[in-house]
Amino acid sequence: MNGKPQDSTATQFRYSLLLREIDALRARSGSPTLALMLIQLSGLEEVNSRFGYLGGDRVLEEITQRLGAVAREQDRVFGVNSRTFALLIDNPLHEGHAVLAADRAARAVTEPVVIGNGRARVRARTGISLLPEPAHSGEELLRQCEVALDVARSRDEPHVLFTPSLLAAPGAASPYTWFDVEEALKAGEFEIFYQPQVDLRSGRLHGAEALVRWCHPRVGYVPPGQFLPVIENTQSIRSLLWFVLNSSLRQVAAWAEGWPQFNVSVNLAAGNLADPDLVDLIENAINVWNLPATQLTLELTESSLMQNPTASARAMGKLRGLGARTSIDDFGTGYSSLAYLRDLPADELKIDRAFVARVLAADRDRDIVASIVQLAHAVQLEVVAEGIEDQATLAALAAMGCDLGQGFHYGAPMPAADFEAAWLGHGGQRAQA
Ligand code: C2E
Ligand code: MG
Ligand code: MG
Repeated sequence: MNGKPQDSTATQFRYSLLLREIDALRARSGSPTLALMLIQLSGLEEVNSRFGYLGGDRVLEEITQRLGAVAREQDRVFGVNSRTFALLIDNPLHEGHAVLAADRAARAVTEPVVIGNGRARVRARTGISLLPEPAHSGEELLRQCEVALDVARSRDEPHVLFTPSLLAAPGAASPYTWFDVEEALKAGEFEIFYQPQVDLRSGRLHGAEALVRWCHPRVGYVPPGQFLPVIENTQSIRSLLWFVLNSSLRQVAAWAEGWPQFNVSVNLAAGNLADPDLVDLIENAINVWNLPATQLTLELTESSLMQNPTASARAMGKLRGLGARTSIDDFGTGYSSLAYLRDLPADELKIDRAFVARVLAADRDRDIVASIVQLAHAVQLEVVAEGIEDQATLAALAAMGCDLGQGFHYGAPMPAADFEAAWLGHGGQRAQA
């Protein structure tokens, strides 16, 4: 294969072929440096409706030719799908070289194509990534390129070069698949961090929320927001819950002597709520660790509850039947009606940190929080304020009658050993720094 465009048989090209080509280029050129760009076209629908499908095909043919001309002999051009091309640059001198090539490719793609008496035009967005840095494998290169492309689309920029900071950008797709998460679970790369929850009346420790962390061997700690969405609707969401339950209940059992009443809160994902075996799974975990179920709280976000209110209420009822506590997490973000609260088999309500953070800044937010506390108490729910970051916010929430508090003011989520050092053996009070 050379840098010239593929013939029509190659339009069947898919990612696997691209990955093989990346590996072949790396193996052959002796220099493993590569830049990949994914060039995605938009506006083809308009071309089709104005010039007919033959016109659309003409535009694609012309673009394929032009990209072939941009590529050097040692580079590669592929049609990945009907509107995305991949351009693989062998041994770019530096990242600026890759960006220049992306510029040239964009110009080639967006130049009008003459069809009969008319001129058709499409737009292009390009994601770029480099190997060996920041990507370490062909697979990673491709994922990073997709993230960069997503960001280019959401920011409406012609091209975006991947950097690790893009992973936190709104609209960026996760660079991981469910398979990566499943493999990482098997490889023992997940850990539980514990964030203290404190009784606001006595100032004593009530327990902790268990928050999962993926300790990725190269990337470091990957926050849950980056990998939970990719497993939300797969079997892995059950594997993850099993891991979190067992790890945190094992920890509670180990702390039982010093902290006999310690409560651990575990988060359930919407995918867990839809799992017909959820209640059995939780019952098994409680039995394995031989703990009173009352020391386990299961948090369900308001928005996941709202996805199927009837089934959620049924599952919550069964969890309470086991003796576990149930909690409505991130309350205030999910548009549920207040009357609905009354009918949910819940023990606790956690006010979302977006409201808590503004309690001192805006009278309106303070009034909203105060009325949530009153309402929750009226229907016998305990109230947790999450995201308390300072003493003044804590004092305001305690004055409103909030039962429990959680947030950086008391401590960020931390490994079990740090938690133990900070809290255990201090009579349930935090150790003084
Ligand atoms: P969440 O359950 O509402 O957890 C609280 C989140 O707020 C945590 O983020 C925590 O680090 C953060 N946080 C706590 N105190 C403060 C504060 O004072 N200020 C600020 N700005 N943030 C604070 P994290 O650990 O990144 O988790 C994010 C979300 O991911 C969680 O929100 C939860 O919905 C989900 N999650 C975390 N661990 C698990 C898990 O084991 N299973 C499931 N299904 N979901 C989890
Ligand atoms: Mg939570
Ligand atoms: Mg929350």
